[in-house]
Amino acid sequence: MAINRPKGTEDHLPALSPKLTLDVSAQAHGWLVEKARRVLERAGAQRIDTPLFEEADLVKRGVGGSTDIVRKEMFTVYYFGDHGGYILRPEGTAAIVRAYLQNGLKQLPAPLKLWTHGPMFRAERQQRGRLRQFHQVDYEVLGSTDALVDAEAIALMVGVVRELGLTGVRVKLGSIGDPEDRERYNTYLRELFTPQLERLSDDSKDRLTRNPMRILDSKSAGDQELLAELGVRPMLDFLGEEAGAHFRAVQAYLTEWGVEYDIDPSIVRGLDYYRRTAWELHHEGVGAKSALGGGGRYDGLAQELGSKETIPGIGWAFGVERLLLALEAEGMALPEIAGPLLYVAALDEVNVPHAARTAMSARAHARAEFAYRAMKPAAAFRDAERRGAHWVALLGTDEVTQGTLSLKNIRTGEQRSLAAADLATFLQEHA
Ligand code: AMP
Repeated sequence: MAINRPKGTEDHLPALSPKLTLDVSAQAHGWLVEKARRVLERAGAQRIDTPLFEEADLVKRGVGGSTDIVRKEMFTVYYFGDHGGYILRPEGTAAIVRAYLQNGLKQLPAPLKLWTHGPMFRAERQQRGRLRQFHQVDYEVLGSTDALVDAEAIALMVGVVRELGLTGVRVKLGSIGDPEDRERYNTYLRELFTPQLERLSDDSKDRLTRNPMRILDSKSAGDQELLAELGVRPMLDFLGEEAGAHFRAVQAYLTEWGVEYDIDPSIVRGLDYYRRTAWELHHEGVGAKSALGGGGRYDGLAQELGSKETIPGIGWAFGVERLLLALEAEGMALPEIAGPLLYVAALDEVNVPHAARTAMSARAHARAEFAYRAMKPAAAFRDAERRGAHWVALLGTDEVTQGTLSLKNIRTGEQRSLAAADLATFLQEHA
């Protein structure tokens, strides 16, 4: 029996793989992360990487006991002789805040901007754009409550989208207020839903006691019908004075910078530690229920994780696979195969080591490959072309004894003869 990869995971494949699509192209993943890196590092974000697994307690406290992630979707890590108390990370924020606290990053100039990229794990039911191992690009800013930081974070997300060349993206912006505001809203929701208890889905009955706001986020059609019927008032109606002023300031900055957004009163981020600004980015090609990414402010998280002082923070995450699906929906082609600049083939078996040596020394300057056995010219050109090479050097005994190279440009047909000693300069000029 052949062994398959686990459900809900993908292999990221090399260029020219049969049936390759953007979302499983290793090259497309790398290309996307590189674009995001450029945008984020230009804004002063520094890379941070945390382990792929963390203490279960970190995930439970950081993500919140009432969330689907903690209640149903955690992958537990067991290994021999261990207590089994580790969880594969479902998101990046809790671990980054843990690392900030544990490594004394508070001593760095604030606000501190960090970014990361890597796999996240949630045991969800697999669907298009919903995987058990998926990838996020993640941006977090620690140490400031300023609305300017919120607005910049949103603008950077839009900046990444623009850098990728995506056009059909909408920003949905909301605020979930301060904890007191949410408490008032939850009281209102409990009063509204308790008489309708029987009509709520089982999950939402549970949410009614744990965190009523999450009913608004329900994926159940019955719940959504009930919500529409009851005409539920939005969280935005319950914002206190400070949270309201903060929300207006974020909008004013975005408007000033020409970053378009729609106010969406239904934005309720699934994670418990969010405060005030919350937003999502959506794209038609990926489906209304599936965000490209989302973010929010989480001033309460550090204390939840055991910090004595409040460390305000805000962050967002893009789903890399979702971005690639959106790009595919907008008709983006697979990235061009980045072939070698130089491909060296020997015409006789005796010169194969020389061809290998030529290619290996060329690697100081450019990507260079060689043929592992002697080839006739036609076969060498065919192989070089399949590999996407630019220049082919054929080595016969004449070339080897005279110390020259006969080069041919596969794309234009141009031919050149070169002293082997000049190869480095030639490669630098053509890189
Ligand atoms: P969240 O951490 O839940 O706010 O998710 C942030 C982003 O990660 C989402 O907007 C998606 O783009 C992506 N994402 C979350 N869960 C999944 C999943 N199971 N499969 C693929 N992408 C996901």
